[in-house]
Amino acid sequence: VTETLVDMLDAAVERYADHVALEFFGATTTYAELGEQVERAANGLRKLGVKAGDRVALVLPNCPQHVAAFYAVLRLGAIVVEHNPLYTERELRHQFEVHGATVAVVWDKVADIVARFPADVAPRAVVPVRMTDALPFGMRLGLHLPLPSVRASRSALTARPTAKGLHDWSKVVASRRLSKKQPAPALDDVALLQLTSGTTGTPKAAILTHRNLRSNAAQGRAWVPGLREGEEVFAAVLPMFHAYGLTLCLTFAMSIGARVVLFPKFDVDLVVKAARKTPLTFLPAVPPIYDALARSDADLTGIRFAISGAMSLPIPTVTRWEEKTGGLLVEGYGMTESSPVALGNPIGPTRRPGTVGVPFPSTEIRVVDPGDPTVDRAIGEAGELLIRGPQVFQGYWGRPDETAATLLPGGWLRTGDIVTVSEDGFVTIVDRVKELIITGGFNVSPTEVEQALTTHPDIEAAAVVGVPRESGGEQVVAVVVVRDGAVFDEGALRDYARGYLTAYKVPRRIVQKDELPRSLIGKVLRKVVRDELIADGL
Ligand code: ATP
Ligand code: MG
Repeated sequence: VTETLVDMLDAAVERYADHVALEFFGATTTYAELGEQVERAANGLRKLGVKAGDRVALVLPNCPQHVAAFYAVLRLGAIVVEHNPLYTERELRHQFEVHGATVAVVWDKVADIVARFPADVAPRAVVPVRMTDALPFGMRLGLHLPLPSVRASRSALTARPTAKGLHDWSKVVASRRLSKKQPAPALDDVALLQLTSGTTGTPKAAILTHRNLRSNAAQGRAWVPGLREGEEVFAAVLPMFHAYGLTLCLTFAMSIGARVVLFPKFDVDLVVKAARKTPLTFLPAVPPIYDALARSDADLTGIRFAISGAMSLPIPTVTRWEEKTGGLLVEGYGMTESSPVALGNPIGPTRRPGTVGVPFPSTEIRVVDPGDPTVDRAIGEAGELLIRGPQVFQGYWGRPDETAATLLPGGWLRTGDIVTVSEDGFVTIVDRVKELIITGGFNVSPTEVEQALTTHPDIEAAAVVGVPRESGGEQVVAVVVVRDGAVFDEGALRDYARGYLTAYKVPRRIVQKDELPRSLIGKVLRKVVRDELIADGL
């Protein structure tokens, strides 16, 4: 690639000027209008002191202002740092301590929290965004986004733009247009600090350059056959503050002049309503979202491309989805550290359900011994996946030790995931290295045990973890959610599992829960499951 994300947006603004770029509850923004908003926002942010290399925090759900702010920061040669707006005060403060953003553009509901950080952490300027400003005139959002329970007193929840350091977004973008002369960012400049999901620990800020992100958009385009430039309609139900949503629903979509329908959160009814207005053609999402939509009575026959990632895609989900829509549902694989997509199934009859497909264009892989990554494994033998390509990140912001442990000499990225590769190059994800269970010398893959349990018709979901045993090592313990109307019987379920699994893999204990702890994007948090079991004295 030769162009930055800013060049890419400029090209789209010129080429697709009259096409709709963004749709939000029916309100539309054309590419030409988006280009102008970005310039105004860049000018406003410059007046707040943002300059090349500064970090600007975005703490926003999907909304048009999020997109304008993202490109405006890049336009100034500054660095975007994306955050989940539902993070607690403690989590947000920790992230701000790490990246030291000087300006924050935030959902108005959390503006006060950021503005009241201790002086050494607080950004110089906080810019509250009211999502309702982007709605059609007179419309109300009427949408419930759950605020974390640790929020400060209720009365402090509404930010007052008059308070010191608070600058309302509508004022920031009201400034006159930029003069043409702006220092343009370079291809190898840092564009984004993107937080990992925090599945195995505290989220880490992955450093991604324009080249990294632009490459992944270009690789995505080479991956998807039959794209109609300027015609596709993306359903952005994945959050843009996460690597997956940001690349698939924003940078990739903008690179092909698509219309992006923005959803501040996933909700079946919202998607059904939007699809009635503008038929959707492209849906990047995660398995629970495909299941929820397949169960609804929505007409989704226009969706030609459904791309699943972030967690393994069960084959029944594929079958249900494809029967309902007549389109394809294929699985890919990636991580924040690879911008994020690194592997994908062919989008067509040669895709192979149950695998995550083959390396993306210009992407190389190796499978190595997780104890010594210089030792390669034989074909078909399980090992840790390494990735090399133009989408691989530059390291973790402020964490040189973790960077050295993750980015190996030669540019290889350690994924921390155990995989196998078939003769013809299809990759199957086994488990994370960190989540393998060590019982009496044997390794147990929690995913394999979960899959065995969920074949039982009464079991809706299962999470399997290793709980420390007094005698040393770990024992396999499962937490299950049973389907409505079914009765839980631990002994019967263990007998059932014995029909599927060797004795040492059968859970010693199976516990019933109403639901499993999941990350915002829907991943089961095995770490939390394990901690809760230990706290319960298991
Ligand atoms: P953290 O690194 O903070 O612990 P995380 O690894 O979950 O969190 P992400 O970068 O969002 O953060 O997720 C990348 C991980 O998601 C991969 O390492 C892999 O374990 C998992 N993953 C991604 N795609 C798939 C897939 N198709 N099937 C199974 N697992 C997947
Ligand atoms: Mg990770």
